Amino acid sequence: MHELSIAHSLVESAVDAAEKAGARRVTRVLLRLGALSGVVRNALEFGYEITTKGTLLEGSELVIEELPVIVDCDVCHTQSTLDGLQTFACPACGAPGPRMIQGRELELQSIEIDVDEVAFGGDAVAEAPHALPTP
Ligand SMILES: [Zn+2]
Repeated sequence: MHELSIAHSLVESAVDAAEKAGARRVTRVLLRLGALSGVVRNALEFGYEITTKGTLLEGSELVIEELPVIVDCDVCHTQSTLDGLQTFACPACGAPGPRMIQGRELELQSIEIDVDEVAFGGDAVAEAPHALPTP
């Protein structure tokens, strides 16, 4: 299942970015996925859930933006969105083999992180009153 290894490198990049940003937790991960990326969405979501366990990304939401295939035709110079992938031809003039300019994307677009807990000093502050000696 190659989605598992894709999920693994996706999680690795996101953890890396989160650590650099000083995040305590990642809440959302936004991914751009082209229709011809060759990735099965459900399998990727499943792999994501497994590989995020025990990382900063555990419990975060994977938001996938699906990108349609856009082609550019050399014959009539029209850019069009392909509705289906059964026929790979220019929808405007029918010429075969238009150039694909979008559709193979597999990109980590952005991550949303939670850094609030750091600002409040974490557990040490919350526990201080209980540490006072009682007479
Ligand atoms: Zn055309």
